[in-house]
Amino acid sequence: MSEGLAGKRAFVTGASRGIGRGIALALARAGADVAVCYRREADAAGAVVAEIEALGRRACAVGADVRDVDAVRSAVTGAVDALGGVEVVVANAGVPTRFQPLHEVDPGYWQRVIDIDLTGVFHTLHATLPILREQRSGVILTISSVAADFCGGNGGPYNAAKCAVNGLTITVARENAPLGIRANVIAPGFIATDMGQGLIDQHGDAILGSIPLGRAGTPDEIGELAVYLASEAGSWITGQVFRIDGGALGASARGAF
Ligand code: NAP
Repeated sequence: MSEGLAGKRAFVTGASRGIGRGIALALARAGADVAVCYRREADAAGAVVAEIEALGRRACAVGADVRDVDAVRSAVTGAVDALGGVEVVVANAGVPTRFQPLHEVDPGYWQRVIDIDLTGVFHTLHATLPILREQRSGVILTISSVAADFCGGNGGPYNAAKCAVNGLTITVARENAPLGIRANVIAPGFIATDMGQGLIDQHGDAILGSIPLGRAGTPDEIGELAVYLASEAGSWITGQVFRIDGGALGASARGAF
């Protein structure tokens, strides 16, 4: 087991389940202590904390709805109090969108998706960047989606939010590179999580047939990329968008493999 993140402290939103949980556990396996940030699923977050502690790392659960900037600030303060600091920030929390054309999207629904999937990332970075800037080091990872490249019809609010997360992260990378802070995007394709299952329930499993590697990705596989980018192995990488999708985007752009 590589311990390239020994001594680092990570703050991961949406870590009670799915991709965030996979990232939190992978960071812990690589040696990091982890603050598990959740919205509603306190028991699930507590279970992730127990899994991390079983790996011999420190962990804490902190609750915050990422739409509420004060709640996010309190969660970051709670994480720093519990772990002693933060060097790795992962803005992962997100929700899918209803499948409908833009002219049918209710403005209130649009706002909800943007508030969670985009403004929630802003709140997470706004609450943590002062800490990283003060210590003149740190790594930021945001989780967008290959939906930002596909921009498939009927996904307007989600596609718009994820495109914006890519742009925001590159902007933050440029603003903070002089301080030695790196920021990159992980853009997954279809991953087997509650959100992924919801897509299959809605659209059927044809989506799996469009993946050249023939299966959904796993939260662990996203976690391994997060470890690489957060560790010294990724020390010269910033302002990049990393697609990890079993080949789906490349196949879509070039025709079938
Ligand atoms: P998931 O299984 O549905 O888990 C979502 C996580 O986000 C949960 O921990 C949830 O917390 C948290 N969350 C949701 N709304 C929140 C809010 N308002 N405030 C704070 N936390 C909130 O989703 P996932 O598949 O792991 O997706 C994680 C990220 O990856 C999302 O940004 C998603 O867009 C992106 N992504 C997913 C896929 C995929 O195929 N699954 C593909 C590309 C990108 P609670 O458990 O406490 O509710």
